[in-house]
Amino acid sequence: APPAAAADRVTPMMAQYVEIKAANPDCLLFYRMGDFYELFFTDAEIASRTLGIVLTKRGKHQGDDIPMCGVPVERADDYLQRLIAAGHRVAVCEQTEDPAEARKRGNKSVVKRDVVRLVTPGTITEERLLEPGRASLLVAVARRKTGESASLYGLAAIDISTGRFTVMETPQERLAIEFSRLEPREIVCPDAIHDDPELKEFWREIAVPVTPLARDGLDAASAERRLKEFFGVATLDAFGAFTRAEIAAAGAALAYVERTQLGARPPLSAPVRDAGSATMLIDAATRANLELTRTLSGERQGSLLATIDRTVTPGGARLLAERLAGPLTDSAAIAARHDAVELLVADAGLREDLRSALEKVPDVARALARLSLDRGGPRDLAALGAGLDAARAIAALLVRRGELPVELSRAMRALGESDPDLPVRLNATLADELPLNRRDGRFVREGFDAALDELRLLQIDSRKVIAQLQARYATETNCRTLRIKHNAMLGYFVEVPQAAGEEFLRDPWRATFVHRQTMSDAMRFSSVELGELEAKIASAADRALKLELAIFAALCEAVLAQAEPIKAAALALAELDVAAALADLAMREGWSRPQVDDGVAFTIERGRHPVVEAALKRDGKPFVANDTELSPPATEAKGGRICLITGPNMAGKSTFLRQNALIAVLAQMGSFVPAALAHIGIVDRLFSRVGAADDLARGRSTFMVEMVETAAILNQAGPRALVILDEIGRGTATFDGLSIAWAAIEHLHEINRCRSLFATHYHELTALGDRLDRVANATVRVTEWKGEVVFLHEVVPGAADRSYGIQVAKLAGLPPAVVERARAILGELEKTEREKPVASLVDDLPLFAVPQRRQTPVVPQGEPDGLREALAGIDPDEMTPREALEALYRLKGLG
Ligand code: ADP
Repeated sequence: APPAAAADRVTPMMAQYVEIKAANPDCLLFYRMGDFYELFFTDAEIASRTLGIVLTKRGKHQGDDIPMCGVPVERADDYLQRLIAAGHRVAVCEQTEDPAEARKRGNKSVVKRDVVRLVTPGTITEERLLEPGRASLLVAVARRKTGESASLYGLAAIDISTGRFTVMETPQERLAIEFSRLEPREIVCPDAIHDDPELKEFWREIAVPVTPLARDGLDAASAERRLKEFFGVATLDAFGAFTRAEIAAAGAALAYVERTQLGARPPLSAPVRDAGSATMLIDAATRANLELTRTLSGERQGSLLATIDRTVTPGGARLLAERLAGPLTDSAAIAARHDAVELLVADAGLREDLRSALEKVPDVARALARLSLDRGGPRDLAALGAGLDAARAIAALLVRRGELPVELSRAMRALGESDPDLPVRLNATLADELPLNRRDGRFVREGFDAALDELRLLQIDSRKVIAQLQARYATETNCRTLRIKHNAMLGYFVEVPQAAGEEFLRDPWRATFVHRQTMSDAMRFSSVELGELEAKIASAADRALKLELAIFAALCEAVLAQAEPIKAAALALAELDVAAALADLAMREGWSRPQVDDGVAFTIERGRHPVVEAALKRDGKPFVANDTELSPPATEAKGGRICLITGPNMAGKSTFLRQNALIAVLAQMGSFVPAALAHIGIVDRLFSRVGAADDLARGRSTFMVEMVETAAILNQAGPRALVILDEIGRGTATFDGLSIAWAAIEHLHEINRCRSLFATHYHELTALGDRLDRVANATVRVTEWKGEVVFLHEVVPGAADRSYGIQVAKLAGLPPAVVERARAILGELEKTEREKPVASLVDDLPLFAVPQRRQTPVVPQGEPDGLREALAGIDPDEMTPREALEALYRLKGLG
């Protein structure tokens, strides 16, 4: 940016620009010039690159050309959206006085301008800039030291588009998981956290714009003061007991919101503790791998969310996405959600009535947010009217049904809390057809306000008068093509062809018509009569608009006085939408209610993969349902089972693995599940890994990524975790890979002891099934028919007898000669293998030594021993006293 010191050598306008820019150094400055927002200097370069618009020059600044680009005000939203999406922040600088005022001050005077708003990724409210089905979160981070090198992080999330405000606290190792659940649009944190070298890599990987904030005023005490002031309370206790880090984060989030909204008061709800700590932990890799809310290629289409989403309102869609991202771990809360779905599955009449009533519900939460920020339009008011109307109708449906499960009765009460007169008033006041912008006027219903109606009549009358005047002028001047037109520069004027115009410059017309403009083939004139008419029309329009704006303001006030009950109603509508949508899904797809409890069972009968099933259905193909049993064997309650699946490529191994993870996620988010029966002990943490494609974005090799992720699982998975490992070890040489997979299974069995599914193409590993009591072999059935493989997709106990790799390759269209040659080579290799089979190693390999039940592991010198590993796998904060005691016994057994 140019130094402001040389302001004396710059134009007054540039001086003003430089001053405003200096106050907003971290934003692109949209500087209002007439019908354009213009950007200068580096801002112009950045914007022209990001937006692909022309970079030009405008005048000089201290002798140098000033780079400039501009966007039309009318289309500014589109450009803003793209800049925001690219992670930029924009300061919108408007003219804050009438240019006429500036002229009065003298002709060198510049129109006053000021930044009226900062637009940042996490603080947008415009309908066009938001995705209807997705929350738009700003997350602030704070931390408190809890020991020498230990800290806890406070997170505060604000969705300014709906007013939701949540806080939570989390240890550093869970930060990434929480961010992947919340999916913030923007993160703010004190610069100390932003610049912490330990977190540098972390911020880079998050791939969300992170805004550092100067530390001043971000401590817990100032934060508390700020929160109390904003919510007008004497103490925060009423909101709940928050930790210092939570309060500091909440204060920082609020400070940033206030800073970007520049005084407009966002409609925030009081902060509540996020369910984060009570949700299943799912890291980013697992989310991506299971394609929960987005496919691996980043689209919503084809994700689990898209497949199960039957909601009919934007609020419902957002809530469904949020629930899917954070399945619960509290079995009672899960059961309460299941109760609501179950009732709506059973009561088809109520479900259908609810869903058709919900279809009429607009985005109440976001409309309210825009109105509170004084950024709303007539359509937002109408949306509230329609939403509240529907809320009453829906409450009545529920009342009629009588006895309801808690989730539904709570929603019903929330729907009834707003003032019933408000929607009546809104509907009575607003016209049927509404403009987007309130300044366009004509949104107040005819007959609502007598004075307004009169002014409108006057406008219509004046138009008639103009038409009459045009006819009269045309006859009098004998010019049939005379027209009265209007434009912004001349106002109303008379336009005639060139020849007639020449006449008007002479007597007698000279007295009536005043020449204003000569065009290539026409001339334009004004007249006294026209001028008077114009003034009358303009003042009628002016007064009409003023009246309408006053009516708008009064409606807004009435709405905002009801903000709390409206927000509660909006949430209740979303909850009902989700419950009814899940019931509709369960009913149509034949899903059943899972039994979720605090044990460690995992029994699925006839489970299906909802996304694969839906895709097959489109091709008219059936999905083969499969059973899963990972519950600890009755004789030994010391850990979940490991299901080791072998089978050729394309048999359906990955599908089977993932379907079990998805069923757990669905069950714990409160949905029914695609299975005939499901009994699931709460899964507190879900891991899913595939030995898959290179992660080029992070510049690591396939194998490295795979190993880093596998390490994370083996180090972190506790007894309540569910682990899914697909083809681990594939990224390296056969024996390396086999050995790693082998050792990983042993570790899972002996140390993690969690429910696991492990797919592999190393047939040798099936020998572990005999050796480890909780490992069960399964394979996906394949038969051969006339020399071709036929995939049955049926998971059965046992091991695959062959890999059918060559048959699959043939199916894929490998040239016949290559297939033949491969068969011959395979024959040779198999002969060698028969002479010294790898599988025979199992009996004489003392590896990381699979202890026979409770025997001491044999530990190679210098390697980490089992005891240490077991210790490392223990997180005392994560354990109940009972689990801690069990762990102690287990450690004792190892030592
Ligand atoms: P693998 O992991 O064994 O290579 P996948 O799980 O990727 O195999 O499945 C390959 C294809 O087989 C899937 O894309 C799907 O079309 C089909 N498939 C998988 N499981 C089933 C099933 N249970 N029923 C029907 N088709 C299935």
